[in-house]
Amino acid sequence: MEIRSIKTPGFIKSLFIALLTLSVSFESKAEDINIVTTNTILADITSEVTGKHAVIYSLVGYDEEVHAFNPKPSDLKKLKEADIIIANGKNLEGWLSRIDDKNKIVEASKGIKSIKKDGYEDPHGWNSPYNANIYIDNIAYAACAKIPAYCNEFKDNANKYKQTFNELTIKYKQLYDALPQENKKAITAHDAFGYLARDFEITFIPIKGVNEETEISAQILAQIIKQIRESGIKVIFIENISNTHFAEQLTKETSATIGGELISDSLSKKNSVDTYYKMVDYNLKTVYEAFSSAK
Ligand SMILES: [Zn+2]
Repeated sequence: MEIRSIKTPGFIKSLFIALLTLSVSFESKAEDINIVTTNTILADITSEVTGKHAVIYSLVGYDEEVHAFNPKPSDLKKLKEADIIIANGKNLEGWLSRIDDKNKIVEASKGIKSIKKDGYEDPHGWNSPYNANIYIDNIAYAACAKIPAYCNEFKDNANKYKQTFNELTIKYKQLYDALPQENKKAITAHDAFGYLARDFEITFIPIKGVNEETEISAQILAQIIKQIRESGIKVIFIENISNTHFAEQLTKETSATIGGELISDSLSKKNSVDTYYKMVDYNLKTVYEAFSSAK
């Protein structure tokens, strides 16, 4: 059993574990689709849409960094065997150009109103719930094309799933709109929340860029400290996928405090935020609570 394979609903997982415990072999059905996703967020959305009709494997695991990923030979084998490869797109997975069969690649973020930074498209579309519907529809469309016999089921799953995001979005939009604008600003570890900032009128100042993998320089840190002091920023958010040294230094040098750990690019086992819905809810709640208590 692959550590990173995801298969829902939950009771199937439990059944699978129970079967393994009993040393009974469990074979996937012949009509199941074999889907490889590039990260855990896409794996979870895919499993919500395809239900029991897909075997899903995520290349990047929980709490792992997505920008620096490079496929190992075992990953390339998985990609070769896949019926569908679900990627985010917007250059998050530059290594995909090495895949021979490009027809099976699905760009899950296709159609979102993208943000451009320094000439590049910001890949982090998933971090705004306003984009969830597009991700869900793109994945449902791809699953339908692969097994049309279950298309009605996929569409049904997608519609119910989208409805939960619509309700979540309306709830938080009202809460954020009621916050004073001067409270809605913070430092983040890397530039992963541009879409959330745009859609909820937040100012995030990231320490690292959209795709940056380099260490933070003392110069950048000095600049950020100056910015915190000048603009009266009171909140710093750390992330599940990056180190926290920068934040410790900033809290020593300024009066800003850590507002929580955001789940940016990978679902989190360590924070028990292991579904995409929980992730969006958790991030919006964490940011809201930090902004509403900032003094
Ligand atoms: Zn990122």
